[in-house]
Amino acid sequence: MPVHLDVLISEEAIQKRTAELARQIETELPGEPIVLIGVLKGSIHFLSDLGRELKADTEIDFLQTSSYHGGKSSTGVVQIRKDLDINIEGLNVIIVEDIVDTGITLNHLRELLSTRKPKSLKVVALLSKEGSRKVHPSVEYIGFEIPNEFVVGYGLDYEERYRNLPYIAILRED
Ligand code: 5GP
Repeated sequence: MPVHLDVLISEEAIQKRTAELARQIETELPGEPIVLIGVLKGSIHFLSDLGRELKADTEIDFLQTSSYHGGKSSTGVVQIRKDLDINIEGLNVIIVEDIVDTGITLNHLRELLSTRKPKSLKVVALLSKEGSRKVHPSVEYIGFEIPNEFVVGYGLDYEERYRNLPYIAILRED
């Protein structure tokens, strides 16, 4: 199927906004150690760039969910494919998401991680499609609000392709 990409958010805009988000996080957790939890695989570049911007004492861990199965629409069922390696009890946890769409994944993750008694639990999402929410988990930090289009790049894939692009683009079928 022939497709084309329309750039939505440039590499420069992503880097600038990521630095702003890091400053905001540091202001709200002054001097506190932070655990960044990347949701695989889409958050890889965002977590890497955000983590390098943060001056705080930072630990990094990952978990992986599955609900999209490589296609373009969610199944609505969230499963944990890879759980955390570390114990987050008593720690300041920030979930790092690539994109919040229906909100179902994040809602599930917030509920799951809050049962593990972190000192605080916040979410930073690079992208948000507010108009597509089916449930409304809190998202404390949002990079960009975007329209209800399927996007790829900067970690986001379509059938595992396009994750390496340094920008965000809308994937359109010709
Ligand atoms: P939600 O559970 O909020 O509907 O979806 C969250 C997950 O769906 C994201 O972490 C991401 O993996 C995937 N997703 C949602 N929208 C898009 C999109 O526009 N492009 C891509 N590549 N993945 C998306």
